[in-house]
This record gives sequence, C-alpha cells and structure tokens, in this order.
Amino acid sequence: GAASSERHVVLLASPGAGHLIPLAELARRLVDHHGFAATLVTFTDLSSPEALSGVPACVATATLPSVKLDDLPAGTPMETVLFQLVHRSVPSLRALLRSVGAPLVALVPDFFCSAALPLAAELGVPGYVFVPSNLATIALMRVTLDLHEGVPQGEYRDLPETIELPGGVSLRRTDLPRSFQSSREPVYGHLVEEGRRYLRADGFLVNTFYEMEPAIVEEFKQAAERGALAPVFPVGPFVRPSTSSDDATGSTACIEWLDGQPTGSVVFVSFGSGGSLTVEQTAELAAGLEASGHRFLWVVRMPNLDDGNDHGDRGGKNPLAWLPEGFLERTKDKGLAVAAWAPQVRVLSHPATAVFVSHCGWNSALESVSAGVPMVAWPLYAEQRMNAVVLEGSVGVALRPRARERGEIAAVVKELMEGADKGRAVRRQAGDLQQAAARAWSPEGSSRRALEQVAAAWKKVTLAEVE
Ligand code: UDP
Repeated sequence: GAASSERHVVLLASPGAGHLIPLAELARRLVDHHGFAATLVTFTDLSSPEALSGVPACVATATLPSVKLDDLPAGTPMETVLFQLVHRSVPSLRALLRSVGAPLVALVPDFFCSAALPLAAELGVPGYVFVPSNLATIALMRVTLDLHEGVPQGEYRDLPETIELPGGVSLRRTDLPRSFQSSREPVYGHLVEEGRRYLRADGFLVNTFYEMEPAIVEEFKQAAERGALAPVFPVGPFVRPSTSSDDATGSTACIEWLDGQPTGSVVFVSFGSGGSLTVEQTAELAAGLEASGHRFLWVVRMPNLDDGNDHGDRGGKNPLAWLPEGFLERTKDKGLAVAAWAPQVRVLSHPATAVFVSHCGWNSALESVSAGVPMVAWPLYAEQRMNAVVLEGSVGVALRPRARERGEIAAVVKELMEGADKGRAVRRQAGDLQQAAARAWSPEGSSRRALEQVAAAWKKVTLAEVE
C-alpha cells in the first residue's frame, strides 16, 4: 500500500472567513499530526480573494471556478444563494477530486456544503461534515429534521415554543437563527434538505471540545450507538493564529495601549466582522461602559442606520463619529475606541484584558475561552443568540444583560469584573475552561484523541481509484 503521507483529504469551505479559518486549522493538524496530504477547496463566488492567504503552507489550496448565479431573483436570501452556489459547483468539485493526484481517503465539506457529500459516496470514501459552530447547531438540525421525518417536501411544521437541549439548556424559538424559527421562512426548506443530507454523513467534526459541551457529546454518543446519527467528534477549539495582518499599524496601537493598562483591568468590546449596532444601542453601550467605571477597548463599527430614523450624515464613514457627543473626550483616560478592527486574538490573550463584550460569533467565543476571558453576551443575528444561551447556560462562561440599556450594561460589566457571586463563578469557569481547552490538544487530550480516532478510520480506507 501507499505510505500514509500520500493519503489525501479534501476539505471544502463555504465562503466566509469564519468558516475557512477553523477548517484550515483542522487541515493543518491532519497534515502535521497525522501525515495526510490536505487540500482546502474554496469557491470563487462570494469569497474574498485574500481569503486563502492565511492558510498554513503545509495545506494545499484550490479554488472552484465561478458558477452562474445571475438567474436568482434580486433579494434572494443569502443562504439560498449559498446553497445554489454549492449545488452548482458539484460538477467542478467532482473534476477536482478526480485530479488531486494522491489517493483520496476522505472528503470534508463544511456544514453549508453538504451537497458535496454524495461525491464521497460516489468515490467510495468517507464524507465527514465539518461544523465550525457548536454542538447545539447539530442538535437543532436533528430536532428540525425529526419534526419533518416522513413529511413530504414542501410541507413543513413549526418547531415548538421551546426546545430542550442536552445539558439543561432550553432554547426559546426566538433564540434560534431566524430561518429555523418558522416553516414560512424562505430558507427553512433548505435547512431541512441540508439536515436530510447530514444523515448520509459518515461523521461530524465539530469546532468545540468535550469539556465545553460534555452533556451534548454524551447524548450524541448514545445516538451514534443507536445508529440514529453518525458519530460526532469534538476536535476543536481551532482558534485563528495571530497573523501578520494583525501587526498592521492600527493593531499596534491597541497592543501598545493595552501594555500601558493594569493587569485584568480592561473590558474588550467587539462584534465580529459583520455585526453593527444601531445608533441607539451604541449610545446605551457607551453610557453603560462609562457608568461601569472600568477601562475599555472598543472596536467601533459603522452603525446600522436602517432603524427607521433619520440620522442625517452626522458621522459620514468614520465609525467613531457616531459615538455619543463628548464620550471620547470624557473617557480618554480610561478607554480606547478604534475604528472597525482590532487584532482580537492578541487582545484577548493580553494580560490587561479581563472581560469581552461579544456578539457571540463562535470563533470569538472559542478565542475568548482559549484566553480564559469571560463574556458579556450581546448577540446580534444568525446563530449568535443561540450561542449566547449556550455560553451562559450550559458552558457558564458568559452573562447576558437583561436589557440593552445603560444601567443593565453597567451592572453586568461590573458583575463580571468585580462580582463576588455570579461574576466570580463565571470568571472561575472561564479560567477552568481555558485550562481544559489547552489540555484538549495535549497528547492525551480529548480533541487530540478524537481526531486520532478519525485519522485511524481514514487510514483504513481502501485507497480509492481516483484516476
Ligand atoms: N476579528 C478580529 N478583529 C476584529 C473583529 C473580528 O480579529 O476587530 C476576528 C475574530 O478574532 C474572529 C473573527 O474575526 O476570529 C470573527 O469570527 P466570529 O465567528 O466570532 O464572528 P463573525 O465575524 O463570523 O460574525
């Protein structure tokens, strides 16, 4: 047989840095720890051309050619465009898989690309779905699917008002990503289709780790033993390494400022790559931070101006100009506000950083956990509200303000910074999980062992004829 170094794994990332970065890290581990060759495939459409620049050198990359999407009516939801993109790219992916050279032993599409799974079956290799989010996401998929088992396509039922997840988390319907909330949502049907395709997966690789979501891991283990679902492997956290773009001048300013702050004194505020607050939320957050009396580093993005009010063009394109009048001046000894971007991984691991006000994007959550920083959960859209419930409820590393109002914001920031009761418990859990996250990748660690199991299965794959 061929040496294991010739065995090839192809990973497929849907557009968006939040999906690509963890998948690239998984690919690197497969190469570095398990001797596979790995190719990370992306799409031309909807992706930014620089997306692949941060992929580790040991991982090969390939880009699928552009497909025709201009027949989709204007206003087609983003998810629908995405599903169409993947669907229409299957032929070129098939061609690529047949030409990768070294024998293919596994195909790993991410959770938006499950339309590629039948190609794995066609080529006689295992197909594993990569989930860049938490286990609650697949649990939700299962609930949705169970509800529609046997229902003809096109006839969908609504989810119940609350969904109980293993680990004592109950999600209200309004906590779910919008497309899951009602069968009348335009994307709902796609989700059900996607869920049906998950049933054909040979396994799930999830960007979480055992100690973070133990109850759900156990539940999935039992489901796999019953044959209800393929095995689920928590193999994370895959956290974005600091890259050279983090060293841009704006970034240096953040780190230099943090260097001048006392240990454990700073509240870091950031809402990810796509999140924006309304002007009113911006004002409440500013007032809340100021009232907390704590130091802060705030990554300010352009506000969302579609709130039905007329804002004139007070700030133009400078996000900082949309902060409340006089705020920067009054807080100049306590806080730093930067426009648009900060080197988040470096900021979170800086000794001055104590608390993270976060939109609860899963990458941000894992970065925070890996740095031992507790969170104030401020979800904005997509699956963020669900993440917030999980992070506060079962994981125990976050607190949610009861309202997005200055008094509540100040109170929750103070509780996390100084609180002797709830705040202390959350801080302790953040510290414990940080250690668990570091251990997950040590030689006997949970994620390391889980990935070893997967690698062992792939090494047994009869080398497929892909010529
Ligand atoms: N990020 C960053 N600086 C910023 C904002 C975001 O480095 O000012 C990075 C962050 O570290 C994370 C990613 O961008 O790796 C955001 O991913 P996440 O899943 O948290 O949220 P999304 O942007 O997908 O909503």
